[in-house]
This record gives sequence, C-alpha cells and structure tokens, in this order.
Amino acid sequence: MSERDDHLIQGTLADATIRVIAAVTTNLVNEACGRHGAAPTASAALGRALTGALLLGRSYKDLEYITLRFDCSGELGGITAEASAHGTVRGYVKNPLADVAPTALGKLDVSGIVGEGMLYVIREAGYEIGLMKEPYTGSTPIVSGEIAEDITHYLATSEQINSAISLGVFVEPEQGKVTAAGGFLIQVMPGADDKTLAALETAIAAAPHVTEMIRNGTDAREMMATVFGDWPLQVLETHPVEFRCKCSYERAVNIVTMLGEAEVRDMLETDKGAELICHFCGEVYLLDESALSEIINPPPELVM
Ligand code: ZN
Repeated sequence: MSERDDHLIQGTLADATIRVIAAVTTNLVNEACGRHGAAPTASAALGRALTGALLLGRSYKDLEYITLRFDCSGELGGITAEASAHGTVRGYVKNPLADVAPTALGKLDVSGIVGEGMLYVIREAGYEIGLMKEPYTGSTPIVSGEIAEDITHYLATSEQINSAISLGVFVEPEQGKVTAAGGFLIQVMPGADDKTLAALETAIAAAPHVTEMIRNGTDAREMMATVFGDWPLQVLETHPVEFRCKCSYERAVNIVTMLGEAEVRDMLETDKGAELICHFCGEVYLLDESALSEIINPPPELVM
C-alpha cells in the first residue's frame, strides 16, 4: 500500500485507555464528489460524512454497516453516508450543487449549507451470519453543522462516549478536485486518567489541520505521530478503504420487478425501457425493451 492509497489505521495510546482511528480518504472522497458532480462546499460536507462513517464504523465491534444520515434544513438538504466493516463506503447529498462563499478564514462553510436538523446513526449487525438483528438507530440534533462536532455530540449524548473527532476535505479552488481528505477519531476508554485527558486535549488543539498534513503527503500513522508527538502509538491494524457501491444491474432488475406487472407493462409500452439512477453512486442502469419483456414473461428456466 503506498501512502497515496486511501487507508485507515486503528491503534491505542496510554496503556490502551485511548483508542485512535485515523484515515486518509482523498481518493474515495474525490471519486464520490466526482460521481455526484458536487460543488466545493457540498464536496466538503459529503467528504467529511464519508470519512466520519468509516472512522465511526471502525469503532464498533461486530458491525456490518453504519449509516450517518443528516436530515437538515440548509441548502444541502441532507447527507447519507454508509460504511461497511470491510472498509468500503458510499454516500450522497440531496443537493450536490449546494455552495456558499468560504468563511472569513478561507474555509469551506459546511455549516452554511447544512443548517439545522437531526443526525441519525444507524448500525446494522448480524445480517451476514443470518441473525437478522434489527438495525440500531440513535439520533441527536445537529449542533454545529460542521459534521465532526455533530458526530462528537452524538457519541457523547447518545452513547456516553467521550471523543474528539477531526475531519477535513480540501478542494483545489481552480479545478474543483478533492486533493486531500481524511480525519481522525480519538475515543476515551474507561480507566483513562485526568492527566492523560488534559495532555490529549492540548495535543489535539495544537495539531495542524488534517488536510494540511495530508496535502504534505502524510499518511495516517504519521498524522497521528504529528498530533501525539512522543506518545508511543501502538498501531493494531491498517486497512485499505475505498468508495464502493452495492448497486448492480441485477439489483436494478429486481427493483423494477417489484413494481409489479402493470407498472412494468406501462414502462414497456410508454417509455420502451426504464432508466434507474443509483442515489449512492450516480450509476445509470438502462433496462431495454427485451429486459422489461423478460420481467413480464420470464423465460421458462427462470421460473423455478
Ligand atoms: Zn450505486
């Protein structure tokens, strides 16, 4: 794995009383934003949510999927980011064209397009081993609209977990391309002492911004070394992470099939086909006349 490939590390600090998860997500955020044709501010919002979902997902044991959903009143309308335990992530925003002028400090004004609303965190587990547990859903109000603060607030109030989260997306002003994205999640485990917590806060406050580090070519491990200096970081795992959607042509056919025969017949007669666009990745699936006919009259070998 080269430093330029997206990756995530998981480790501990201070005798395992602090959990550290850090990721570089530049390529996957750039791919997601490109697929959705997202404007710079919308790109920052989507990229932060995608990275946040990957980091947060890694902090739960036995998780299969985690979805962060921001239902918000701002121009963006909403964000959905879904990460799997295998390090894949996909997501979208309701209005990818949402964009406002940068803040006085030159930062992309994410809260300016998010506004107020609710953050929902949906965790799924047990599906792949056949247990089919109900997804667990927690929610808290959006407190800042900057994404990282909102996830931190969710963890503190809904799950009583003390954490610090930093998320960043840098969009190259000229080309509108995402050239740096990533973040980290620090969680305080039971047994952490006050001295450690105070030192942790100081270190995080003094750290350079994540996109500044990533733009300099820093990988996730070096990013944590920069933040925590001399503290010995024990890296337990390193994983690749990537943008990957679950959609497929077969799924598109299944969705159309479920609409029922009358609806499919109407599509066939009126539109001579059907076009489905995946919300999560923007992929377009075209079902032509023969595909629709086959749904209405499946060939004998498919009727089992
Ligand atoms: Zn898709």
